[in-house]
Amino acid sequence: MSRIEIRNLVKMYGAQQALHGIDISIEPGEFCVLVGPSGCGKSTTLRMVAGLETISGGEIAIGDRVVNGLRPKERGIAMVFQNYALYPSKTVYNNMAFSLQLSKMPKPEIDRRVREVAEILELTQLLDRKPGALSGGQRQRVAMGRAIVRDPEVFLFDEPLSNLDAKLRGQMRAEIKRLHQRLENTIIYVTHDQVEAMTLADRIVIMRDGRIEQQGTPDEIFHDP
Ligand code: ADP
Ligand code: ADP
Repeated sequence: MSRIEIRNLVKMYGAQQALHGIDISIEPGEFCVLVGPSGCGKSTTLRMVAGLETISGGEIAIGDRVVNGLRPKERGIAMVFQNYALYPSKTVYNNMAFSLQLSKMPKPEIDRRVREVAEILELTQLLDRKPGALSGGQRQRVAMGRAIVRDPEVFLFDEPLSNLDAKLRGQMRAEIKRLHQRLENTIIYVTHDQVEAMTLADRIVIMRDGRIEQQGTPDEIFHDP
């Protein structure tokens, strides 16, 4: 569990300013949802925390380290994307194991982790399948499993459910919530869906035009005048 501090964060894309100095403070273990219309800067913020975009100004700290100059791998984060690009020719098992295999973790430890996470996500029966033989929801669970096996301090979700139909979205929402209650990782979750924000968040950050319009608990946001 790590605290995340975003201080006066600025992003320029050429002459266009995408973020105008935003501040977000996320407690260890907190589920923080960034919500707002398309183009407001959610994804840019998330990608900067992940180290996938350069920072034009300000500071990001994860735990007690300023991570501005660190590569993605050095940040203790794992990211789940909306188009969850699984390796089509690898089994579910190897999709989940791959990043651990690259890290040269001993095989028995990899096996232990993959099986444990598969159990949590109800993927145990599917370990030998390839992604082409899975449903959308199952693929999404594999994408999450791939992130979870690395046991990251911080999870970043970029619209992970937006390609799913409404029913599946509801199920996955519940699943993500359960997962967070169990793992207690710090999470930043980006969505344009207010229902998703309401049901998942401990803290909601409403963004508009590269600025923060409001932030607080769901209660504070939706019951304040
Ligand atoms: P959101 O995730 O809220 O939809 P983004 O963070 O993707 O918003 O985008 C914020 C702003 O930055 C938008 O105006 C978008 O057009 C711009 N933007 C995002 N990525 C790039 C990029 N790679 N190059 C130039 N402009 C970009
Ligand atoms: P590739 O992805 O290279 O085609 P395979 O799918 O044939 O590889 O599996 C290669 C290795 O992946 C196996 O030797 C084994 O270590 C591991 N593996 C794949 N599926 C499983 C599984 N269900 N249980 C345990 N190990 C597996």
